[in-house]
Amino acid sequence: MKRVQDNCGVFGLYSNTQCVEDIYQGIDFLQHRGQEYCGIATYDGRIRQVTHHGKVGNTFTDQNLNYLTGTWGIGHVSLKERQPVRWQSSLGEIALAFSGNIINSDELIQGMMQKGRAFQEGYDIEIISKIILEVGDPVEGIAALSQKIKGAYTLVVLTKDGIYATRDVYGFRPLIIGQGSGKYVVGSESRAIRNLDMEVVRDVKPGEIILINEQGFKTCKQLESPRRAHCAFEWAYTSSIDSVMEGVYVQETRNNMGARLAKRDMEDGGIEADLVAPVPMSGIGHALGYHMQSKINYQEVFLYNRYADRSYTQSTQVAREKMAKRKLSVLGSSVKGQRVILCDDSIVRGTQILYKVRDLKKAGAREVHVRVACPPLMYPCDFGISTRSYEELKARQYMPTGNIDSMEQLKELENWVAGQIKADSVKYNSLDAFVEAIGIPRQDLCLKCWNGHRPTENHL
Ligand code: SF4
Repeated sequence: MKRVQDNCGVFGLYSNTQCVEDIYQGIDFLQHRGQEYCGIATYDGRIRQVTHHGKVGNTFTDQNLNYLTGTWGIGHVSLKERQPVRWQSSLGEIALAFSGNIINSDELIQGMMQKGRAFQEGYDIEIISKIILEVGDPVEGIAALSQKIKGAYTLVVLTKDGIYATRDVYGFRPLIIGQGSGKYVVGSESRAIRNLDMEVVRDVKPGEIILINEQGFKTCKQLESPRRAHCAFEWAYTSSIDSVMEGVYVQETRNNMGARLAKRDMEDGGIEADLVAPVPMSGIGHALGYHMQSKINYQEVFLYNRYADRSYTQSTQVAREKMAKRKLSVLGSSVKGQRVILCDDSIVRGTQILYKVRDLKKAGAREVHVRVACPPLMYPCDFGISTRSYEELKARQYMPTGNIDSMEQLKELENWVAGQIKADSVKYNSLDAFVEAIGIPRQDLCLKCWNGHRPTENHL
């Protein structure tokens, strides 16, 4: 069976006019969450569906959009698989799109196969579909997922009655409700709502199952949520900087993370530097925060190749490295003879930042000091945000236990990483500073990437 870890975005819209143009634009605004596949399904008495391998803007044709008639529908962008999927069932025709990862997928597939169920690829979306259809009622079927599935997910389900949407009971991934004139919408990020001239209403609550139709939004069921575990990585990297989740602006948190790095430098006696620069795009908010706190000049030192894909959401290491090289070119006159503070969101494998430091030095930078918004990444994600493994985590290579017990240990690690990536110095935010910068209570965040604590021990 093919095991998939996925990074993706979901979107659903009910409109008093044809919906496809808004859905097309909605998933285009979520494109940063996955660039390998995209798809739309609409309902006009039957389900019409088109999926593509590639990005939204490059693949959907006018013919596709003309075919996707109807006033309600769902959309998806993904790193790994084509969605929405469509089924003929006792519920009538339905289509589903999902973002997340099922940890116990092998076990679930084995159990269902023993009962005579067949699978095509064994993708998570097939498992989800079968669980819902087996129950025979959309709301109870979606509710049953929380009993059977271990993992993180958001889901939209297109039916003749409207669009059902849900978020797992821990709320790992964001899912936002919005509305505009005669339109009701749900999407993985608020930017996909605001940029369509609709208003954000609120976040879907962890464990909430909603129905969107001509009457607006309705909570069909609220499942018990043992605790919240919002993925902290969403604020540091995954979500777009113009999004807001749980009432917290991504831009503000990134500025805060950068400001805390600057404060740390000031507390350590200050740093002699000529300019602060981001690794675009995800380092921009952090670099601006550093600049505002330190008053050191902000200057772009890389030109971002807008036609390259996001390297983190490429599916293989080779593709990621190729993309990292294509993505940014140095603005030579900005860096010649300069002492540069270079801000980035995180260091995973260290490949990209090594290239960036090397490129800046080659272009004449006198010093490059790397400042990292996230604390050192020590643990892989079980919940579908990335596919990284222990072996790929740079910091883990130095600290096999995964524990940083003191500032002294953090500084030792930073010195080692600086040597590895050929930087003059490296500093990360501590976990405490990182959590403060987000501003959401620690107990409501998933911080497993950094401290190894699975927030859902009982459930998993
Ligand atoms: S393990 Fe890390 S990436 Fe995965 S949900 Fe938790 S914080 Fe997010």
